[in-house]
Amino acid sequence: MLARLADETFDVVVVGGGITGVGAALDAADRGLRVALVERDDLASGTSSRSSKLVHGGLRYLQTGDVQLVREALRERQRLLENAAHLVRPLPFVLPVLHEGGAVPAKLAKALGSALWAYDRAGAARIGEQYRRLDRDEVLDLAPTLPAGRVAGGYLYWDARADDARLVLAVARTAASLGAVVTTRTPVCGMAHDHAGRVRSVTVGAGGTGGQTIDVRTRAVINAGGVWADDVRALDEGHHPDTLRPAKGIHVTIRLARVGVRAAVVVPVPQDKRSLFVVPWGDHAYVGTTDTDHDGPLDDPQCTPDDLAYVLTALNHSFTSGITEADVTGTWAGLRPLVKAAGSGRTADLSRRHTVQVAASGVVTVTGGKLTTYRPMAEEAVDAVESLLGRTSHCRTAGLRLLGAPDAGAGVPPDDHLGGRFGTEATLVRELAESHPALAEPLVPGLPYLAAEAVWSARHEQATTLTDVLERRTRARLLDHGATLQAAPAVAALLVPELGWDAAEQARQVDDYRRSARHEWASAGLHDRTVNEP
Ligand SMILES: Cc1cc2nc3c(=O)[nH]c(=O)nc-3n(C[C@H](O)[C@H](O)[C@H](O)COP(=O)(O)OP(=O)(O)OC[C@H]3O[C@@H](n4cnc5c(N)ncnc54)[C@H](O)[C@@H]3O)c2cc1C
Repeated sequence: MLARLADETFDVVVVGGGITGVGAALDAADRGLRVALVERDDLASGTSSRSSKLVHGGLRYLQTGDVQLVREALRERQRLLENAAHLVRPLPFVLPVLHEGGAVPAKLAKALGSALWAYDRAGAARIGEQYRRLDRDEVLDLAPTLPAGRVAGGYLYWDARADDARLVLAVARTAASLGAVVTTRTPVCGMAHDHAGRVRSVTVGAGGTGGQTIDVRTRAVINAGGVWADDVRALDEGHHPDTLRPAKGIHVTIRLARVGVRAAVVVPVPQDKRSLFVVPWGDHAYVGTTDTDHDGPLDDPQCTPDDLAYVLTALNHSFTSGITEADVTGTWAGLRPLVKAAGSGRTADLSRRHTVQVAASGVVTVTGGKLTTYRPMAEEAVDAVESLLGRTSHCRTAGLRLLGAPDAGAGVPPDDHLGGRFGTEATLVRELAESHPALAEPLVPGLPYLAAEAVWSARHEQATTLTDVLERRTRARLLDHGATLQAAPAVAALLVPELGWDAAEQARQVDDYRRSARHEWASAGLHDRTVNEP
């Protein structure tokens, strides 16, 4: 891939390997453009591995009047349920209605019903289920630790969920299968222009810390740099345009048994006009998210003690099981690349719509939007590139199956551990696991991942560090921070023959992983419970 970067001339170089960038690379490759995607760190290492992992229309955007966004997102949700059927799965949501001070808030119950009616009309019902009312017992059956005495009833509706980092990976690998060059650990650090001011190459770091660079010849650039998009624009425009307002959102993972939910549950945040989702994920549940201005370093958003307290307070307002910091097994924080709006107050009120900005130099910047709506964002960006290049073609990604998705008519792959992560490739991963007893062992004790998945990720998924494997190819770090700290040396040992590490590199990988995981824990003010690990 690196040799191709240096040798070929591209129609378009995509900067950034989050969902927006990989989506653009896939669309461009599918239209027959010569495309290279360069990511400075790992695929999905930015916001795209730190979302709430919902593929949804966004019920709350109906409240803010963004009906167009909801319609578009629901259309895309449906497409993803077909084109990535192994990764994107329907998920039931419960909206409980609780007595407040002894009375059922009738106005609230009615408003929720109308919102869900409108959601179904906007396209939500296409999932095959319509929203319905739940009586008190049905709510308590799905969410048994809600306060039984206060539950008046509720509603059930459907959205979908995906492992965001694996969705990015599947889109990237599909793009590569159509001829796209996809490289990681290749930061863009410069752009060169011709005498007319048109971009003719981008300079990419390719030597790790060694400082080696490659000038990649290209006719156009798609800037999908997420919250860093203004920095990438500065390389083209010579000054920093300062158009973005990063908004932080955090999540907290706890053991499922502590809340016992059998569906995602929407809980209100007292004294704040927001709600949190409590989403079951295997033997765990994650809770989020927050929405606050972020003025710290873009490379290091963290869950703080205040964020944690906000989530735990809201959780304990609605659930009776008394959840404390000791129950937290993981945290993650991400930054929404929101576009600044004149005079806007809270980040929660800023639009989630995307913008596409085309510079005469041939750099197309696409920012904002949602994980769910990456495909139309990509379509718009690639249309803009084609118009710069003086060509036109039609986007065909609406019906394009991602790698691992079953063909049309083949049915949905099994929702077991491997089927839900690898789809049609699950058989190959299973064969690898069966090829050696050690590979069929758990990767991280207590979590469902197999050792074979780490080996597979190094061979076929461009994983090159221990963090890639524990945080994004598997989601072990998000689920159980402490267990990954313990397992880090064993996982590194598995990767040694795959990635050719010497003893010093192996030790460095373990140190890097532990340092960053501990920093995350300490930032949240959480007590390190793994001081005695080997
Ligand atoms: C807390 C939270 C919850 C969310 N929940 C949902 C949800 O449930 N559903 C939903 O649909 N959406 C959700 N979103 C929104 C969604 O996650 C984002 O819109 C989306 O992930 C943004 O993707 P991106 O590719 O634009 O940015 P990123 O994923 O950040 O990708 C940008 C990439 O560019 C790379 N990069 C930057 N500079 C350079 C450079 N110079 N050279 C090379 N590469 C570079 C970065 O390393 C990064 O990988 C959520 C967002 C947050 C923060």
